[in-house]
Amino acid sequence: MKFTNSLLALFRKLSPNKTPRNHKIDTITIHCMAGNLSIETCGNVFALSSRKASSNYGIGTDGRIALYVEEKDRSWASSNAKNDHRAVTIEVANDGGAPDWHVSDKAISSLIELVTDICKRNGIKKLVWSENKLDRINHKNGCNMTVHRDFAAKACPGNYLYNLHSYIAEQVNERLGVKMVPTNVTITSEINPYKEPITNIRRGTKGESAKWVQWYLWRFGLLRKSEIDGVIGSKSEAAIKTAQERLGLKKDGIVGEITRKTFISVCVR
Ligand SMILES: [Zn+2]
Repeated sequence: MKFTNSLLALFRKLSPNKTPRNHKIDTITIHCMAGNLSIETCGNVFALSSRKASSNYGIGTDGRIALYVEEKDRSWASSNAKNDHRAVTIEVANDGGAPDWHVSDKAISSLIELVTDICKRNGIKKLVWSENKLDRINHKNGCNMTVHRDFAAKACPGNYLYNLHSYIAEQVNERLGVKMVPTNVTITSEINPYKEPITNIRRGTKGESAKWVQWYLWRFGLLRKSEIDGVIGSKSEAAIKTAQERLGLKKDGIVGEITRKTFISVCVR
């Protein structure tokens, strides 16, 4: 097995807290730093052997990426040796506190690029997230993303990053060239909490009808959960068009009966 490191990591401070990897890389585990550490400060923390902690990569609020443990080695990150032997672990800085542990948009876009690069170099063809912990820890249905809270009583990766996992997977898969088929969006036990509208939804529509549509756009990875705001603006309209295009519908940005029925049908378990 030939391991390489990401060229996206421009800063490198190798940690002594590591073990030779005994498994191929087939999993991504995203962590939060629980603080707004620069990649240099985080590197200094992981450089202490007394700290007994590390991660393969770190991303700062400014979007810069660091390497702390080479991919050939297992980091000490997720409170689970088996997970870390097969996972690339990434610590992301927080520009907000508990319980959400918000992360900057710059850090998110670097994270998406880094995870895409890790998948490409290690032959991970598609990123699969599940809301179900048992799916994650057992790698069921191709699931290959785990989180620290799966293995320890921890808030990590924080609610903000946790809720972004489906979005991150969609964004990475788009970059990996994975064809989005309707079955991709059926892995959900949640149902749309908003009332289905009976009229057409378009740019300018406000209220619960708009939220109903935005909820599906979030499920499709086209909006963030925080963007379910009950107003169809330009971003929601563009997301509607993208969804219509992917689902083979008329790409007019208007959610009429056919688009509504299609959204419902592809999101039913
Ligand atoms: Zn963690």
